Amino acid sequence: MIHRNPYYRRIRGSHIIIVCCAYCKTDIAMYQKVSKGNLLRMYLRRIIKSSVNLSEKPGALFCPGCNEHLATRITLKRRNKEAYVMVRGAFNSRLIRQ
Ligand SMILES: [Zn+2]
Repeated sequence: MIHRNPYYRRIRGSHIIIVCCAYCKTDIAMYQKVSKGNLLRMYLRRIIKSSVNLSEKPGALFCPGCNEHLATRITLKRRNKEAYVMVRGAFNSRLIRQ
């Protein structure tokens, strides 16, 4: 994961997970997760670094290893936050720090 996310903000009390492609296992993002449940979306500001360059807020995330579509960007209007909605079954995640 070579790209630091320019929109990254540290979230206190989060745990750190690694999200990887389910097809080829390429690591996609290091992410600060707050809730314990399944990963449904990744908020842009909570991504620490990524193997995708996020500086221009790409409209979708594709795996740099196998080009599978992994997530689609949305803007949450109420809070004006940007997030990537994850494609079900296209990724795996693992906890690296609690
Ligand atoms: Zn892949």
